[in-house]
Amino acid sequence: MENLTDTKTVLVTGGTKGIGKAIALEFLQLGYEVVINYSSDEETALATQSEFNMLGYCPVLICADVSDENQVREMFREFFSIYDRLDILVNNAGISLYEVIQDTSLDDWDRVFAVNVRGMFLCCREAADKMIGSGGGCIINISSVWGEVGASCEVAYSASKAAVIGFTKALSKELAPSNVRVNCVSPGIIDTSMNSRFTSEEIEDLISQVPLGRLGVGEDVAKACAYLAEASYVTGEVLPVGGGFAK
Ligand code: NAD
Repeated sequence: MENLTDTKTVLVTGGTKGIGKAIALEFLQLGYEVVINYSSDEETALATQSEFNMLGYCPVLICADVSDENQVREMFREFFSIYDRLDILVNNAGISLYEVIQDTSLDDWDRVFAVNVRGMFLCCREAADKMIGSGGGCIINISSVWGEVGASCEVAYSASKAAVIGFTKALSKELAPSNVRVNCVSPGIIDTSMNSRFTSEEIEDLISQVPLGRLGVGEDVAKACAYLAEASYVTGEVLPVGGGFAK
């Protein structure tokens, strides 16, 4: 395939729905070449791709489970067979777990950390090598307000998102001399399928706790990612996008 060197590129993991889809669209609108990773739901991936095609954009889809080392390596190989630069990596892929600790099995715990933490590590490891080699880059990890303040019945998820913050801060220091910036976005309650378990009463109750008086939408998080992509003197930061929630 053609090597497109002049346009900036971005890889968004878990980017075919929810927040990731909004992030992919934001970067398409900004003129980036966008590669969207998905792990299993090909039907949704193809539907998202054709939705973007109808808007005049041509994102590339790559299938890989971010928790799998070989699949992540293969994803980056495929990426660099198309593009010879990676400007932005957005580690958005994530899973939640709503369970009291007594019901949390070791498998549940490990799966949450495998996707939310190991997946981010594996993608950052591949990206770091290439970004250092090309003189710089930007990594954006998607954490959560629960990683900052903790949520009842979401201990594994909250702990994994706290790990995302610690990882981001450490890696930002390690990669700063190589001109690679590493930040994270910490969304509050965003209206995606991740929150579909809430009843409408619970949603109303949550909204009443948000100073801006509404749930967030994917575009709110996407705008924060676009800001971090261009914020050349910002690294190691946690940018909350929660309408003032849990402050
Ligand atoms: P979502 O379930 O709609 O999207 C998650 C995406 O990650 C999906 O596309 C899913 O297929 C993908 N994914 C899951 N496991 C994967 C794997 N192993 N490999 C590759 N992709 C995988 O949920 P969302 O709300 O859009 O969440 C996106 C990110 O934002 C997640 O990291 C989530 O933890 C975080 N977040 C969400 C909220 C919220 O309120 N929705 C708040 C804070 C943080």
